[in-house]
Amino acid sequence: MIWPASTRAADKSTLNNLLAAYDGESNAQARYRAFAKKADDEGYTKVASLFRAAARAGEAHVAELSRVVKKMGGVPKAEVKDAEAKSTKENIEAVIKDTTRECESLYPEFIALAHSEGNKDAKKVFNYAKAAAKELSGLFADGLAKLEGMKGGTLTVYVCTVCGFAALELPEEKCPSCFEPLNKFTKIV
Ligand SMILES: [Zn+2]
Repeated sequence: MIWPASTRAADKSTLNNLLAAYDGESNAQARYRAFAKKADDEGYTKVASLFRAAARAGEAHVAELSRVVKKMGGVPKAEVKDAEAKSTKENIEAVIKDTTRECESLYPEFIALAHSEGNKDAKKVFNYAKAAAKELSGLFADGLAKLEGMKGGTLTVYVCTVCGFAALELPEEKCPSCFEPLNKFTKIV
């Protein structure tokens, strides 16, 4: 994910973090779509499914971030840059690096600040994004480990449209991240 450097520096506030996340997730979606196309072009069609699922998860985060920003009186805006796709292997490696950083440091910091400010809405959406980043990181790491097996056919990925949780199997009862019912899931191939 591309995070504007300025948003990590001074003037830390939950509203700024929400805006940074909105911009970051919007750019990530563009990158995932470009990476999906590249993966299809290179024959890694199952990896393309993963990238499409990641884009759908990002769409859920962007919608929820927008809602929370507006509720706080802010204006959600993103500067979506043209996404540059390298080789599929490099694209996967870049996504693993980014999603790992998101779930291990970036979102935990945002969550801690939102918690200290008593901002439950922000804390919830950051938790959604953190959980989704963790799942996606695992899915892409598995894909990278068996990259040659990712050629031909598609993968079915179940994505929660509320929180962006993504998994190769539909959870048994409800979404393990946001606890919404299974009818909130969409199937991405
Ligand atoms: Zn969910």
